[in-house]
Amino acid sequence: MLRLFDTAEGRVVPLELRDDGVVSMYVCGPTVYGPPHLGHGRFSLVFDVLRRYLEWSGLEVRYVSNITDIDDKIIQRANDEGRSAQEVAEQYEQVWYQAMDAIGVKRPTEDPHATGYVDRMVELIAELMDRGVAYETSDGVYFDPSGVSDYGLLARQSIDSLRVGARVEANEEKRSPIDFALWKKAKPGEPAWPSPWGPGRPGWHTECVVMSLDLLGDGFDLHGGGQDLAFPHHENERAQAVAAGHTFAHHWMHNGFVEVGGEKMSKSLGNFTNLLDLVESTDPRSYRLLVLQSHYRSPVEVNKATIDAATSALERLDAFARRTADLPPATPDAEALDAFRRHMDDDLDTPAAMDVLFSLVRRGNQALDAGDVHAAAAAAAAVREVCRAVGLELHETSGEVPPEVLELARQRDDARARKDWASADALRDQIQARGFVVEDTPAGTQVRPA
Ligand SMILES: [Zn+2]
Repeated sequence: MLRLFDTAEGRVVPLELRDDGVVSMYVCGPTVYGPPHLGHGRFSLVFDVLRRYLEWSGLEVRYVSNITDIDDKIIQRANDEGRSAQEVAEQYEQVWYQAMDAIGVKRPTEDPHATGYVDRMVELIAELMDRGVAYETSDGVYFDPSGVSDYGLLARQSIDSLRVGARVEANEEKRSPIDFALWKKAKPGEPAWPSPWGPGRPGWHTECVVMSLDLLGDGFDLHGGGQDLAFPHHENERAQAVAAGHTFAHHWMHNGFVEVGGEKMSKSLGNFTNLLDLVESTDPRSYRLLVLQSHYRSPVEVNKATIDAATSALERLDAFARRTADLPPATPDAEALDAFRRHMDDDLDTPAAMDVLFSLVRRGNQALDAGDVHAAAAAAAAVREVCRAVGLELHETSGEVPPEVLELARQRDDARARKDWASADALRDQIQARGFVVEDTPAGTQVRPA
């Protein structure tokens, strides 16, 4: 059974499901006002891996992730560029999915858009007003969380210490610095929807609570996002749900930050803070592998060295896949799959799971070298299962020959030119061991994927 660190509990607990065989999860999606950055890529990959693993384990996953298509930042950009907020949101939603497709993140089962749910949000705000936990000011409607007894659960702080730590804003009508906007009254020229408090737009925290409860129902299984969302965003979603009498998410899961390396990296490989630049300048699978090789709660360092290391690890995987592509079908190595499951079930310990994967590759290669086709085929079948479970695509018949293999071919031509047959043969063996076919042609050594 899968156990995960639950932010609300502050410890690792078994993932309990409301409905047998079905996982209902909500992951906060992007505000579509610009291209996605590496942090977006990470949370998307972390929750994609979780989803795929659950599906691989035989569960059905309802994965809801929203698109925030109305927000101050969208309006700001629209004003700066002299176009409508809707145009800006539509453009960057396209860019978002383009990047997600590139890194192999499955589309959500449902992707509710905030603008499609404004009526329901107005209903919730009206209910919170009726219950006396929200109040109107000249610029909007605010929620007062002081009546929510366990407010601070996700921040892991008491409401008093949150109050002390809160940034004091210029807004004098707000009764307490921890109160937050449910409704923002529109200024002239801003996109607006009707409400009992005049035209305006909903606050971000209200969006996710309404959409998650509407699509997944009370007491859905898991709410996730980057750790920067735990407070105040998730805390405030939860506070509204509790105040309105709902049971909110049963489990809370948050992933760690992305640390981006220094100047050297950005000069050599483009500005990695933009996810699209990363996938254009590297093998798009490398970020997934890098994320897998880091624990989801730890920071991940993205720089040229870590991306390069992931890329060459991928090459080892691909070479093994090519080398074993024609082996007879076999039952996957059960011991290795058990170890893989054990690590994944232990709070999604993907670094240990990847160690299992790469030791399978080593053992499979050794078995092939020793002529043990049966053991190699069992390892290869397990490698394919593990890769499928975490969404790592293998390139078995890639037409591309990596530069280091081309370099071996060049060295072999040099050896042949000086009639050093022993070295030429050794180099041929090295190339073949990486899963390539070597052919002698009048133009020299030609290499193609096996
Ligand atoms: Zn959210």
